[in-house]
Amino acid sequence: MSSTPATLVVAIDGTSGSGKSSTSRGVATRLGIRYLDTGAMFRAMTWWMLEHGVDVHDPAAVAARCGEPVLESGTDPLNPTITVDGTDVAVAIRSAEVNAAVSPVSAVPAVRTRLLELQRRIIGEGGIVVEGRDIGSVVAPDAPVKVYLSADPSARAHRRAAEEGGADLAATQESLLARDKIDSGRATAPLTMAADAVHIDTTPYSLDEVIGQVVALAEAVEART
Ligand code: C5P
Repeated sequence: MSSTPATLVVAIDGTSGSGKSSTSRGVATRLGIRYLDTGAMFRAMTWWMLEHGVDVHDPAAVAARCGEPVLESGTDPLNPTITVDGTDVAVAIRSAEVNAAVSPVSAVPAVRTRLLELQRRIIGEGGIVVEGRDIGSVVAPDAPVKVYLSADPSARAHRRAAEEGGADLAATQESLLARDKIDSGRATAPLTMAADAVHIDTTPYSLDEVIGQVVALAEAVEART
């Protein structure tokens, strides 16, 4: 695969709260390429299900309706956007209700099939940093740069609680671990580290240091091609 910035695909997977979003946006900005938050797409699908009174714990009910919402993702790393049926849901998809429902919805194979198609269409010819749980393994298995981020549960809870404006730490950690458990255990496209991914434990590093490490990996790939 050719890897000029215009065609480069950087796949960033990892657990909830490992620093994926901030790292991915920072890397895309530094490299001057686009950014896709696939978690926001699963959250937007979940928000729509809740809005429409679909029982999110009934996989058949979720599968029956998952073709309906029109999702649009803006890929500017400085201003990523997400709309459902034309409504801006950037804030609504971060609610506790969506946090609690997103992993069961994401485990439904029909949901994954629908979003996989949208994700591949957005990735197109490349020039993008894509973050999620199954990017290096399923969505973009040919990506020349694959990174898997992890961090200690307490570091992750501190970061996420700070992002959410000082949410309760114990409850945040519990919610992160509950999502990890479902995301890692599901049958279709579970959270996993691709065999050829570089694992970075972000616990001891600042955000800038992690961004620097991923940018260096991308530049090394570009230099080889
Ligand atoms: O990344 P974020 O925490 O916003 O993702 C929310 C949820 O979306 C995850 O817990 C997971 O259930 C789902 N997800 C997924 N596959 C992806 C990205 C997110 O299943 N590629």
